[in-house]
Amino acid sequence: MNETVFLAELPWTEVGARIRAGAPVFLPIGATEQHGHHMAMNVDVVLPTAVAERVAARVGGLVAPTIPYGNRSQPKTGGGRGFPGTLDLAASTLSAVVRDVVLGLFRHGVRRIVVVNGHYENIWPAIEGIELALEAIGPDRTDGLIVLRVDHWDLIEPGTIDRIFPDGYPGIELEHASVIETSMMMALRPELVDLSRAVHDGPAKFVRYERYGVATPEVPASGVLSMTEGSSAEKGHWLIDDVVEGLTAAVVREFALEPRK
Ligand code: ZN
Ligand code: MN
Repeated sequence: MNETVFLAELPWTEVGARIRAGAPVFLPIGATEQHGHHMAMNVDVVLPTAVAERVAARVGGLVAPTIPYGNRSQPKTGGGRGFPGTLDLAASTLSAVVRDVVLGLFRHGVRRIVVVNGHYENIWPAIEGIELALEAIGPDRTDGLIVLRVDHWDLIEPGTIDRIFPDGYPGIELEHASVIETSMMMALRPELVDLSRAVHDGPAKFVRYERYGVATPEVPASGVLSMTEGSSAEKGHWLIDDVVEGLTAAVVREFALEPRK
């Protein structure tokens, strides 16, 4: 039978067998959002899916279909909604989707779930979805269910950040479509990146509050919040290795699993 870790690429019989064997199930959450002139709009989908795929392969896990829409893109973290093609969900909608998928997995006997997030604005709606699912199940009926939630960039090692940003790290919020995401995409899906088209009009300098009802003039016209100079596939591999190692270790520890080779 097919060796894939992707749940939707398997027949139900195989999914059932793997769940009975205790497979952790990864749920990547992404976004369909502008990522500058030089990258495709599916960056926040590709990155958490790739991380989940690699970790699942190492721990005997399954990867549920990635949620391709994220919570509303914000000017300070994704450029915002003014860029053509950026499509997003209200926080309450995304929370409800996460809740329903977690509940569905639980109903099928999954007791180890890992929500892998790829889009900054998804953080709180994802947490809310997990909380809603736990509330719906009821505190006395969880039957050993453990749900982990992670933002993939939080597993990048500080030493790797220092190597990539010897002149100072702009911070993850400003990394939208910048060196980290661009490098990871160059490592994973080089055909979706064209650095020759990159436009450098950042870094953005935001005020320390948000405006609603009017545009945010601080958003660079390119949609890149920081910079793309220095991006490379090699750096992308360093970043992906950190995240895959870190998440594998976390999953093995939290679920008391035996790692595979
Ligand atoms: Zn992104
Ligand atoms: Mn994003």
